[in-house]
Amino acid sequence: MFSFCSTAYSALFDFLQSRPPDTYNVSTPKGKAKNSQEHMVEEEEFELILPDSPSGALAQHPKQDVSGDLRLILVGKTGSGKSATGNSILGREVFKSKLSARPVTKTFQKESRDWAGKKLEVIDTPDILSPGGPQEVAGRSSWEAIAFSSPGPHAVLLVTELGRFTKEDQLVVRRLQEVFGVGVLAYTILVFTRKEDLDGGSLDEYVQETDNWELAQLDVLCARRHCGFNNRAEGAEQEAQLKELMDKIEGVLWENEGHHYSNKAYQYSQQNLLLREEQKQGRQIIQGQGSGEGPSGESWLEGLCRIQKASEQSHKRLLKWAPI
Ligand code: GDP
Ligand code: MG
Repeated sequence: MFSFCSTAYSALFDFLQSRPPDTYNVSTPKGKAKNSQEHMVEEEEFELILPDSPSGALAQHPKQDVSGDLRLILVGKTGSGKSATGNSILGREVFKSKLSARPVTKTFQKESRDWAGKKLEVIDTPDILSPGGPQEVAGRSSWEAIAFSSPGPHAVLLVTELGRFTKEDQLVVRRLQEVFGVGVLAYTILVFTRKEDLDGGSLDEYVQETDNWELAQLDVLCARRHCGFNNRAEGAEQEAQLKELMDKIEGVLWENEGHHYSNKAYQYSQQNLLLREEQKQGRQIIQGQGSGEGPSGESWLEGLCRIQKASEQSHKRLLKWAPI
């Protein structure tokens, strides 16, 4: 089952090994010393048990970054405009986006740009969350999403078409929580595409006055973080809507003390990455904790698949009684 993992994702693996652990600093107002662990359900609590490290890198908080990168992951149902929104954010056409009855985006893709002196990474995703999505093979897509956005996104952009929030979108929200954890909504921003359909009207009013109860409730769960994109916009209009999104992201960072989202699978992934870096630098590693091999000779990807599968099951149990 795992043979395809090692071949197809060796490049991804190299990429993960090559990237430094990163951070995004945000000024948190005094008195706002809110513990970001609040957003992680109890089952997500995951203590890193690491060998003493002379470098200090391994003693790092699992959600603490040091480089200043900011990671955004685009999620939503097929055709909602994820790739088009990614292009608007990046200010260039790098993600394939077109009207199609079949999914256009088949693989994960990460692109970046500079924003206020920081590297802004944007991750476009295939149909990982659509019910019965074609990529949903043996949990492959969800661990792949974790691997690609490791050590965790600073914000999740849940893309939906203005005026078309359907049952399918609701199922995507449920799947988002199953895959990433219930607390992921504390890092989620609702992004409405086809903003031009408002004809200059206010998005806030639209969301507040909607008679779509599920959408209204989701907006509340996301602490009313929403913004609109006209992905056909250019120039000043494109910049203004990006600025609005970045303000919302600043809000998410403020709420979460600048930490990116994390869960068991991300922490496992990050732990292995840091230990491998230590190993590369020739530092002493306690056998079995950093070689990428678990006690039973399990590879990093096998471990990630296993942890992600167990996490999803536990999230599903938690969500069992929550209405969709
Ligand atoms: P994805 O499957 O979620 O990645 O969706 P795409 O980015 O491929 O977009 C699907 C279609 O919607 C494409 O034809 C886009 O041009 C179109 N689209 C996306 N956003 C907007 C928007 O804001 N306005 C308009 N008019 N079309 C959009
Ligand atoms: Mg796409």
